[in-house]
Parts: sequence; structure tokens; C-alpha cells
Amino acid sequence: MITGKNYIGNKLSASGSVSKKTFNPKLNIENDCEFFEATLDEVNEAAELAHEAFKEYRNISGARRAEFLNAIADEILALDDELIQMYTSESGLPEGRAQGERGRTVFQLRSFAELISNEAWRENVVDTGDPDRTPLPKVDIRKTNIPLGPVVVFAASNFPLAFSTAGGDTASALAAGCPVIVKSHSMHAGTGELVASAIIKAAEKTGMPNGVFSNMTGGGRTVGAALVQHPKVKAVGFTGSIAGGRALFNLGANREEPIPVFAEMGSINPVLITPGAIANRAEELASTYANSITLGTGQFCTNPGLILTIDSPETRDFIKDLGAKATAIAPQCMLHPNIKKDFVKNGASVSSQSGVEVVGAIDGEVEPNYAPTQITAVAGKDFLANPKMHQEVFGPFSLVVKSKDEAELIEIINGLEGQLTGTLIAEKSEYQNLGGIVDALQNRVGRIIFNGVPTGVEVCAAMTHGGPYPASSDSRFSAVGVNSIKRWVRPFSYQDWPDELLPEGLKNENPSSIYRLVDNKQSNSDVLELAK
Ligand code: NAP
Repeated sequence: MITGKNYIGNKLSASGSVSKKTFNPKLNIENDCEFFEATLDEVNEAAELAHEAFKEYRNISGARRAEFLNAIADEILALDDELIQMYTSESGLPEGRAQGERGRTVFQLRSFAELISNEAWRENVVDTGDPDRTPLPKVDIRKTNIPLGPVVVFAASNFPLAFSTAGGDTASALAAGCPVIVKSHSMHAGTGELVASAIIKAAEKTGMPNGVFSNMTGGGRTVGAALVQHPKVKAVGFTGSIAGGRALFNLGANREEPIPVFAEMGSINPVLITPGAIANRAEELASTYANSITLGTGQFCTNPGLILTIDSPETRDFIKDLGAKATAIAPQCMLHPNIKKDFVKNGASVSSQSGVEVVGAIDGEVEPNYAPTQITAVAGKDFLANPKMHQEVFGPFSLVVKSKDEAELIEIINGLEGQLTGTLIAEKSEYQNLGGIVDALQNRVGRIIFNGVPTGVEVCAAMTHGGPYPASSDSRFSAVGVNSIKRWVRPFSYQDWPDELLPEGLKNENPSSIYRLVDNKQSNSDVLELAK
């Protein structure tokens, strides 16, 4: 049952007087329940409790933390239809998407559970000592990775489950041994509360310390800012706008003790289509891209917002066809009236720039909160001259750039801000001449896709979901896949430490045969055995 209250550890709390309701964008009405924004005292209580919980949680074994993560997955599934109905009523997204995203959330939790069921994830390193080394004996040093401390996670508006309360950031931080305080997204506070209740139940069932998880509702930026600035908070995970991520990054950096803010922000995901591909399969590409641009009402961070081509009569036909095909797809509901407002405003801002032509637009009015898809086009020289065209238009919108030649196209790529993805659509006969384009793309993006679409982010260890700024605030890390756990740990070395006092993964004996770097070689043997 929804209470509208915050979770401070396992206690429900609503000591503030400011409340708000979520909104059903499909029905264009407010939902029933009121959600109380956390007060600054409640923020402080949650952070202090997380700090206390960390003392115990950081030393709980990987096997027990894995039990906790699996229990969260079970409790989320047990919410069953109540969760699905709440999700759809707060997001305007269809039931199928809700079910798919729940599956992904559960998969992520179980993947992290599997990862931490042994100590290999810590990437342990053993450098054995040598008392006989001259002129000085060599000390024994052993390195592991340990959790940072309480982490604040900002739920994302566009993924109410997989990038929100128990999404990838929360799952990876809990896996690493960090308590989590979620700043719930006010657009889907009910979905957030239901998932929070599942996490609290799982924590109680598996004997986790009170405060290992808290959930705070808030708007007007105050709750989020207070959480990032709290001295007991040691790191932040964020998915959302560039303005929001940058503001939180600055808050984290300007604290007396600066902390890392891992923000995954905007991206227009350039797609490069070669002349050969246009000549051979323009119609198929127009259909594929019409679907990709409108998928999920365009509300994906990997939405193809920029298509780069070389100008020709065939290219112009392709652009016209793309405009017709994308706008023939029935308009769909957006997440919230504010998201629609931003979509219309930002779309108008790009399409009103000098040289931009609207090649596909929905005729007439669409229902309230539904998105009128828009496809636009511009010449390469105009794009190069005007960085306002680089802005993300979050929704079913794409700008096709017609470059005069490959050199101009490469100049355009070089001038782009950092991106999550880059896509290359090319023919086999062109493979030998793609080097310059691939080099330029690699320097600007976190993931490169060949002959596909950027939408759809596979959850796996090899995935990079991040990229140079502003795609993310730290391009060395991914927000998706089990390696995202690395954001929440720091390296820690033991020098000449007695074997019996070392943590399990660093002892001489290696009963679970995990791989470690021992004296510069990967090994899954006991250290003494190696020395023989
Ligand atoms: P947002 O405005 O960035 O807000 C996300 C979260 O960050 C909210 O919890 C918000 O708190 C908090 N926040 C933002 N700025 C803050 C600040 N200065 N200080 C403290 N907290 C702050 O994102 P959104 O609400 O999801 O959507 C707004 C726009 O962002 C969209 O229209 C879209 O253009 C873009 N967006 C992009 C992506 C992407 O993947 N590329 C995803 C989502 C959104 P409050 O609740 O207090 O406001």
C-alpha cells in the first residue's frame, strides 16, 4: 500500500508539510496519492543512519550481500501487478515496457549478486615480499578494492525501474558494500515507494543493518542538493539532464571534502550513413530509423538525435522518406507534461535556427502530453557554424546533416560534444576507407555501433554506457553492466600484513581459486604454491 512517506532506513517518515501528487500523462489527470517531500532533518537522519549502517555493511560477506540483492529481486517480482499498474499510471509508458523494464531490473540485481558471490570482482593484486632483495628488502604489498561509503542515487525520469530506486546505480552500490539513499523522482514517486518497500523488506529478511537503504522524495532541488552536500555521503549516481547533472557535479566538487558525482547526462548519438549505404538500402534505413527515433517516444538517452550524411539527390530522397515514415508512426504519450513542454521548446529552438528545414512533422494537434514527432535537416556548413543545433531534444526528434564531403563530415564529428554512442552504417565495399571516420567517432563517444541502431542498451560486462563529457561526468566508467561497481570503490593496500588478518581474497590460500595478479602474473593458485 502506498503511504506517500519517505523511508529513513526501515522507518516510514513524513514530518514535512510540502506534498505533491504524481501525474497520469495518458489520462491527463493527477494520481490520487500525495507524496511528502523530505525535510532537511529527515535528510540528515537518513545520512547519519547510512553512515552507521556502513560500519557493519562494509564487512558483511559478498555471499550475504548477494542474498540481499536476490531478495530485492524476489520482492520486486512479488509486487506483481500493483507495480506494473503504478508504473504505467505515472509514466504514460505501456504495460509491455513496464514488464520489460522490471525484467531488466531483476536481471541487473541478480547479475550483481552473482558477481559478488566470490571476491574476483575486487581485482586483487599480491606483490610478495623478498627479504633477500638488495640493497633493500622488498616489502609484501597486497591491494584490493573497498567500498567508499554511503552513496546517493538520483532516480531517472525515463526509466522508473531500471535506472531508478533499485536500478543499476543502487544495485551496483549495494553490491560494492555501500549503503544507498535514493532521491526518488517526483514524476514516479509511487513506483519509487513500492520498490523502496521491496528493498526494505529484503533488507529485513536477510538481516542487513537498518539504514542500508533510505528513500527520499523531494522537488525544487532542495532535497537532492542537501543529500549531495551532506558530509556523511561519499559518492553520487545520477541520470538526467546536463543542467541537473552538472549542478550536482559542481555541488559534489565544491564540498569541503569533494566527492565523485557519476552523472550520465545528455547525448544526441550521431549516426553516420555512408553514400554506399544510402545507394543500396535507403528505404530500409528510413524504416529502421523512423522506428528507432520514435521508440519509447524518443525518451532514451541513446535516441538517434543526429544523422550525418553526405549530400546527394539520393540523400535528399532518403531524408524526405525518413520524415514521412517517422511522422506516419502514431504519436505516443510522453512521461510528463513538463517533458512534453521541454520537447516542444527544444525542438522549436533547433528547427528555428538559420538553415534548418522541417522535413517531417505531424499534421494538426496531438493529444495532450503526446509527442508530435519532428524530423529536420540542415547543410553541413550551417551545422558547423551553429552549436545551438547540438542540443539534445529529448523525444522523437532528429536532425539530419547534409555534408558536402567526407572532410566536412569529419570536421562535424570532431566539433561534437562527448556522446554515449556513435553509429556507422556502411557497405562492405567501403570498409577500407572508413578509418578517418572511425577515428573521429572513437574520440567523441563511449560505444560505437556498426550497421545497427543506438537504442537498446544490452546489460553485460562488455557494455560501456558513458562517454566523454557531457555524455557522462567521468568517461572512465560505465553506468551499465557489472563493471559499473567500480564507481563505488577505492583501492586499498595492506603492507606486510599478517596472513590471518588479511581479507579472504588476499590471503595466501585461495580456496575459491579466484584470479588475482600475483607478482605480475594472473593466477588462481595459492601464493605459497606459486612460490615453490
Ligand atoms: P533533471 O531535471 O535532470 O532532474 C533529475 C533529478 O535531479 C531530479 O531528482 C531533480 O530533483 C534532480 N536535480 C536536477 N537539478 C538539480 C539541482 N540543480 N540541484 C539538486 N537536484 C537537482 O531531469 P528530468 O526531471 O528527468 O528531466 C528534465 C529534462 O532532462 C528532460 O526534459 C530531458 O531533456 C532531460 N533528460 C535527459 C535524459 C537522458 O537520458 N539524456 C534522461 C532524463 C531527462 P528535483 O526533483 O528536486 O527537481
